[in-house]
Amino acid sequence: MKLAVNLENMLNNLGTLKTNEPLKKYTSFKTGGPAEYMIWPKDRSALKDIILICGDNSIDLTVLGGCSNLLVSDAGIKGIVVMMNSFHSKADIKLTEEGTVYSDSGVDKKDFLKFCVDSGFQGMEFIAGIFGCVGGGIAMNAGTADGAFAEILQSIEYMNSKGEIINKPVSSDMFGYRKLQMPGCSIILGGYFKLEKADNTVNIQSRINDILKERKSKHPLNYPSAGSVFKNPDGYSSWKLVDEAGLKGKSIGGARVSDLHTNFIINNSGATSEDILNLINEIKEVILNKYNIKMETEIRVLGDFF
Ligand SMILES: Cc1cc2nc3c(=O)[nH]c(=O)nc-3n(C[C@H](O)[C@H](O)[C@H](O)COP(=O)(O)OP(=O)(O)OC[C@H]3O[C@@H](n4cnc5c(N)ncnc54)[C@H](O)[C@@H]3O)c2cc1C
Repeated sequence: MKLAVNLENMLNNLGTLKTNEPLKKYTSFKTGGPAEYMIWPKDRSALKDIILICGDNSIDLTVLGGCSNLLVSDAGIKGIVVMMNSFHSKADIKLTEEGTVYSDSGVDKKDFLKFCVDSGFQGMEFIAGIFGCVGGGIAMNAGTADGAFAEILQSIEYMNSKGEIINKPVSSDMFGYRKLQMPGCSIILGGYFKLEKADNTVNIQSRINDILKERKSKHPLNYPSAGSVFKNPDGYSSWKLVDEAGLKGKSIGGARVSDLHTNFIINNSGATSEDILNLINEIKEVILNKYNIKMETEIRVLGDFF
């Protein structure tokens, strides 16, 4: 799709615009074709204009953060991809008068964690080692066995399809396992986090260091991946199912089931997104046939395949 010149000129004034930008430059899998249009909005007013342009002209709009939980088609993504990483070029994080932490969606999780430790909080340690931005963490309800975003969020600030900014208090029915239910076309701008004061931040930092050390020993961090590929089916552990089905090391093209953690697929060497999706489908089929269990992906699959 080629936008009319006037629309392209408008977009150029609303932020940093790239055309036919390869998404493999951004995804943690290091795969994925081009975004027809990719834009980093310069501010909230620009973001509103982009939403309205897409709505008025029936242009597909995709919102991305750190791109660490995505499998993007080799054919790329049509329409406009709005990049929320380092939104406003300098993403804001601060303590509020009410004692919550406010973070823009574009803040890197590492910086969020550091800010919270430096401010003397605890309860957010589970974020250590999870990649991407705060907005992506909220959208995915990212977490581990030790906690998830839903548990520390007080409210979510988002922009709706009319470009209105809404601050929505969090309720338990908004979140599920690695998912957040929001009205269609909601772009998360930031979140207010309610955290406990720590008695001793040295202990919190040392807990974070232990988590990072453990993850380093268990996860194939030397290879591109998007973390755990499958959600754990009720009562089962995905890595165990994949392992017991004999799929450790199974490869299709450049995609391979990690030998270190069998719920990770790694880009072993020059994988395409199609290789990765074929491997995902093969794993699903084997596990369905062997154990009659339907595997559901945790990673988000974007764009057209096949
Ligand atoms: C090595 C490795 C380990 C990982 N370990 C974990 C783990 O332990 N636990 C875990 O939960 N995840 C894990 N992940 C996956 C990933 O890091 C998390 O899901 C992360 O929270 C995604 O954030 P992101 O900014 O990269 O989001 P993206 O990948 O950019 O986007 C993910 C989804 O969120 C949506 N989204 C992003 N930003 C916004 C926004 N501002 N508004 C609306 N929607 C938005 C996107 O449309 C997409 O659907 C891991 C990934 C890697 C590579």
